[in-house]
Amino acid sequence: MERLNNILFTHSYFLRFDPKQWAQGQPYPPLGTLYAASLMRQNDYQVSLFDTMFTHTPDEVVAAIDETHPGFFVIYDDGFNYLTKMCLTNMREAAFKMCKMAKARGCKVIVSSSDSTDRFKDYLQEGADFVIIGEAEHTLLELANAIKGGVEDFSGIHGLAYLQQQTPVKTAARPVLKELDTLPLPAWDLVDITPYRECWLKHKGYFSLNIGTTRGCPFKCNWCAKPIYGNRYNSRSPEDVITEIKLLKDNFKMDHIWFCDDIFGLKPGWVTQFALLVEHENLKFRYKIQSRADLLLEEETVRALAASGCDNVWIGAESGSQKVLDAMDKGISVQQIFTATQLMKKHGIKPSFFIQFGYPGETKEDITQTIGMINNLLPYEIGISVSYPLPGTLFYERVKADLQQKTNWTDSDEMALMFSNTFSTAYYKQLHRYVHQNYHAHLAKYNLVKLLNSPFKTNIKLIKKAASVLYHAPAMIVERYKLNQLEKA
Ligand code: SF4
Repeated sequence: MERLNNILFTHSYFLRFDPKQWAQGQPYPPLGTLYAASLMRQNDYQVSLFDTMFTHTPDEVVAAIDETHPGFFVIYDDGFNYLTKMCLTNMREAAFKMCKMAKARGCKVIVSSSDSTDRFKDYLQEGADFVIIGEAEHTLLELANAIKGGVEDFSGIHGLAYLQQQTPVKTAARPVLKELDTLPLPAWDLVDITPYRECWLKHKGYFSLNIGTTRGCPFKCNWCAKPIYGNRYNSRSPEDVITEIKLLKDNFKMDHIWFCDDIFGLKPGWVTQFALLVEHENLKFRYKIQSRADLLLEEETVRALAASGCDNVWIGAESGSQKVLDAMDKGISVQQIFTATQLMKKHGIKPSFFIQFGYPGETKEDITQTIGMINNLLPYEIGISVSYPLPGTLFYERVKADLQQKTNWTDSDEMALMFSNTFSTAYYKQLHRYVHQNYHAHLAKYNLVKLLNSPFKTNIKLIKKAASVLYHAPAMIVERYKLNQLEKA
């Protein structure tokens, strides 16, 4: 086979290198990679996938290279997954290693990821021949066709970085893809789904897969990096999404979907139309989305979400302090978080909160307000992080001068604060533990009251939840004591 017709795709997320995610056991296949592979296959390239998700080391890619003998080795991260946006150093080092190994085996090495978009010079130095900047499918196709056709001047290909006489150069930005339905469905057949299903069933008791319905987010929270899909917002049609759901249900029998969009269903009328199609096709599945408090204030929208199977919505609540929300340019109010949460609960949707501590200027009083909001609203789950300056954001520019040598976390649980702030890194790590215990203690207390109020309507699950107060309440006191010690230190 003509070697330049042959592409080996991989990505640089290794679940084992991210201990928190490994323990949680809820991995999603690399959707972005599958989109790119599908487009290349539609254009007559022979494609295969080396999925790093469950592998032990980057060295394992060598066997795949030797077996498939590709002309192109493409490290293409899943830009839909927030874990790849964190630019973790464990994954970066693995990517560098794979670049070198593929290059040593005579491949043209192409990289597309959030991290390589930010640090293209580093990737070019580490063996990548080309780095694709931003949304990458069509750039990859144009580049591969050009190389195959013997082209040597790449300056006319938009969205690319490469070395020209040892100097990194970047071409003009590529316009975003607006008609998302024109892309072929992801090449789901390339993934070995079995370990994903086993992992989900073992850890959660059900099997979830990921689908993207949109690209980009038009909001401007000033710490949020969107290096791949940017500030635009484009949607697939509800009909196209339904086709993919049917395909996944037929082939993989998943029980649950994570719609991995930054913001699900922002386009007016999209959710209502989607709900009608789900009903018309008699599709049964549960799903989870990310949205914003200010988009969940209309009862009709929340009702349509619930009717179509949505059972969990994660919102970036971030803080219970209006002052901090405003400093973040979050564009929502604390009151909206309260209203949206109550509306979701009314319709049987579980609201979950992303919470962020450590934003510059945040005081003890702001932290207390955030804890109060969590105790008051009792979301279904909380995900706590500390402010993380990513290149390309206004927040990064603000704290750049203050950044210590370390600019990225090694894995998603590191929680190191990389600039000086009101409190120390140790304090924020302890705050994380305390807030979790505090949340669980309040949840247990809530369930205890529920049990005492209706003792004849009880079940074993509720009794267990209520009884957990015996563990969480004392644990919370211990964690608070440790936090107070760190505050004084
Ligand atoms: S709404 Fe979410 S995705 Fe959009 S800018 Fe804010 S944090 Fe980022």
